[in-house]
This record gives sequence, C-alpha cells and structure tokens, in this order.
Amino acid sequence: MVRCTAALSLLLLAHNLGAQDTRPSFTVGTATATRGTAVMGTLNVPAALDSGLRIPVAVIHGARAGPVVAFVAGSHGTEYTSIVALQRLIPRIDARKLSGTVIIAPLLNIASFEAMTPHLNPVDKKGMNGQYPGDSAGSQTPRALALVTREIVTPADVIVDLHGGDLDEDLRPYSYWFRGGRQAQDSAGLALALAFGLDHVIVTDVNPSAPTAGRSLSGQALVRGKTVLVAEAGRSGVVEAGDISLLVNGALNVLGALKMIDRSVRSIKSPVWLFGGARVAADSAGMFFATVRRDTRVKKDAIVGYTTDYLGRKTGDIRAPTDGVVTFIRGVPSMWPRATLVNVARVVPTPPAWLAP
Ligand SMILES: [Zn+2]
Repeated sequence: MVRCTAALSLLLLAHNLGAQDTRPSFTVGTATATRGTAVMGTLNVPAALDSGLRIPVAVIHGARAGPVVAFVAGSHGTEYTSIVALQRLIPRIDARKLSGTVIIAPLLNIASFEAMTPHLNPVDKKGMNGQYPGDSAGSQTPRALALVTREIVTPADVIVDLHGGDLDEDLRPYSYWFRGGRQAQDSAGLALALAFGLDHVIVTDVNPSAPTAGRSLSGQALVRGKTVLVAEAGRSGVVEAGDISLLVNGALNVLGALKMIDRSVRSIKSPVWLFGGARVAADSAGMFFATVRRDTRVKKDAIVGYTTDYLGRKTGDIRAPTDGVVTFIRGVPSMWPRATLVNVARVVPTPPAWLAP
C-alpha cells in the first residue's frame, strides 16, 4: 500500500468539490443539524397500503463547507457487519472538525432486521436495493426508497453503500468499482475504492442509459452523476471486530481522501482486480455443503461443494464455473431452486476499458 497518488486525489477532489454545500443548516427527515453539530432523527415513511416505517438517520453538518457524503447500509437488514459499522462510525466523526456534511443511515430495512429475513423486506417481499428511485404510492419498500432518494441520494455528492455478507453468504471483503463510462465520475469512484482500503476490487460496468440502470442504490447514484462506492465485509450473520474495522476505517478513509477530515489515507496501489466471472445456482431444493472456503483460488471444474437431499443422500458435486477467486460461497445448508451456491470472479491484471454492457 502507498499513499493516495496525487493524480487520483486531484480527480477525486475535482469531481466532488464542484458543489460546495454552504447552507447554514442541513435537514434529512426529522434531523436538522446546524454547522458544527450532529443530530439524529428519522425518515418517516407513512403507513399506506401497508405499515409505515421510521428509518434512523444521523446528520453531521461540519463546521466548514464541503461535499455531502451519504453512507447507507442495511438495505439487506441481516447484513449485520455493515449496519453495526455505520452505527459505530457516527461517534467517530467530529462535526466541529468536519468540512462538509455526512449523512449516515445504518439500517434501511428494519423489518428484515427484526424478523431476521435475508435479502427482502418481509412486509412486501421486495428487495430494498432494487426498487430505486422508489414510488410514494407503492408498498413499503418503494415508499421508503422514494424518501431515501429525495432526502439522502439527491443532496449527496458521494454515495457509499455498505453491505455485509448476508445470513447465507460466506464472502471475502471487497469493494466494487461501478463504472458508467463517464471519465471524471469513474475516476473519482476509482480513487474512493482505492482509498477505502479493501485490496480486492470488483469492476462492474453499468450502462447509465439503460432503463434498469438506476434500480439499485449504486445505479441510482451513478445515473445521477454522483461518485459511487460499494464495499462489503462480513459473512453469515457473524459480526467480527476485524470486519467492522475494515468498514469503519474505510468510511473514515473516504472522508480523509475527500479532505473532509484530517486523516492521511494510504490508498491501495495494486489491488486484486476482479472482472467478470460466473455463479452456480441450485437447480432444486435440498442441502448444500461447501468444501472450499471463501477466498480460495480455484480452477474451472474444481469441486467446491456438494448437495444432498433432506435424508443426506448425495445429489451432486458443485464445481467452479471458471478459474478465479471464490468471492462468495453459500454459508448455510438451505438451498432452493435458483439459489446462488458459489460465485467465482476472474482475476485480471488490470481493468479493461469500459464497455456498455
Ligand atoms: Zn447486501
């Protein structure tokens, strides 16, 4: 690791400092913070077709002007590591020493958290990272996301979306570099990914003009021209101090790289670039047992696990679909048709040029 290169830092600053937010107070939902203060509140999603929801939010409005950075987690409410990391980030930022504004929403999908339901909002069975920009006349998920879009995405210059390996996901930590083919925006996103500090970076190309490009939080932010970073650490419901530190320090590194706090940032110089790859999905219900750990380097067709029926009779071997790194392997026996069993990402020496997918 080396210090953030001057060129990348300049690109990052150039892309994000264009709009210096100078307003004396900053409001998100019920939280209004004046300069140099941190205030907590909620985004209140009213009841309509189904129940309402209060999404917790912290607003830290720096003593000095600067960019607006939003950290969001818990669209998957059982990805605990990312949720706890953002909870712990709040007291680490001193509004009196901050330039700019930080919005922190650690847990969007409260019903998922409370019911321990992975992936979906159990209230309306919708994914809370797939319904942007939301719909104020819809069920709970689109109603909540309409408010998140208005109150958090719209005012932010930078969106950092944290994930944490869901209950059934045994995954290695990585960042995503989402690219939309716009050079200044993509370079700023890369600078943040390298500053964040995770040494594996998944390169994902998005076509911002595609009708579905803005369905996820990262896609919505990309389409709107924001600097975007997605990072993920944690696995299978386990909350480990080491994973929490990766995400908290990564978030602070983002603020350091943007010169919003006084923090020297050591950007990753030579990440492991992951581009493309393939997953294996279950073709039936039953049980899955991994025989390799997350982060294993595998060759195509290597056995990574096996499946059985509910009486323990073996139903098949699961093989790596390509050469690469096991970024994710199913961490629990539960398996249903189309459930992802393993994802193997290809390692490339450098990211290829952006191509519209
Ligand atoms: Zn997630």
